[in-house]
Amino acid sequence: MRQIETAAITKAVKEAAIAANYDLGEDILAALKRGEQEEESPSGREIFRQLVENAGIACNERVPLCQDCGLAVIFVELGQEVQIVGGDFEQAIQEGVRQGYGEGFLRKSLCHPLTRANTGDNTPAVIHTEIVPGDRLKITVVPKGGGSENMSRVHMLKPAEGRAGVIEKVVATVKEAGPNPCPPIIVGVGIGGTFERAALLAKKALLRELGSPNPDPELAALEQEMFQQVNDLGIGPQGLGGRITAMAVHVLMQPSHIASLPVAVNIQCHSSRHKEAVL
Ligand code: SF4
Repeated sequence: MRQIETAAITKAVKEAAIAANYDLGEDILAALKRGEQEEESPSGREIFRQLVENAGIACNERVPLCQDCGLAVIFVELGQEVQIVGGDFEQAIQEGVRQGYGEGFLRKSLCHPLTRANTGDNTPAVIHTEIVPGDRLKITVVPKGGGSENMSRVHMLKPAEGRAGVIEKVVATVKEAGPNPCPPIIVGVGIGGTFERAALLAKKALLRELGSPNPDPELAALEQEMFQQVNDLGIGPQGLGGRITAMAVHVLMQPSHIASLPVAVNIQCHSSRHKEAVL
């Protein structure tokens, strides 16, 4: 067994939370620069220009990309040959979030759902842990903004609605969202599994490198069709009209019950932030 100290986990989460909020990924930045060239609407091109400028300011001046620094969603892949030592694994992650949001001067956006009292340190993070082969620990910190999360939906379709029904629901979800999730967006789609599994697939789909093709040809074709229809809505950057509403549609799929066809749409705003640490 390979041992990993909880102190190293806390440090990795802290650094990833800060980096995710300051440094936009190269793939997202490249898509924003492409948008600046390719968007047909002049106001849309100006928005892309401002988003590229904003990313430069955040990176150079070490300030957050957006005032909404998100709820920290943490994806963990824990190798089955790893032993966590020195304390409680989940507490180590929560402490990393606490320190990252404190030291990075990131907005604390978590509150009691009913009283709305702020928890004060952006915890608890939402942690998804998967046990995988090997002796590594991979932690991906995904600060998720409230605006785009609010416009996300899970639909339980009748199986007979099929592929056309899935496309229709995805496009309708983006249409209903309009300008609210801060377009240009990335659309994560989870198809199959159960109610909660579809939502998790949709969120995970957002982590794929922007611009990379789906390795499954069936899903690649589905993505292309939905991408076209979503952009035909004409919502455009920041909802001011234009050709580019979405920079990509990413789909993950798994088998579902014969009586069900769950479809989840997790919308990601242009401030698409995630950073990985491998221990
Ligand atoms: S949806 Fe995204 S870009 Fe808009 S305010 Fe929230 S985090 Fe910022």
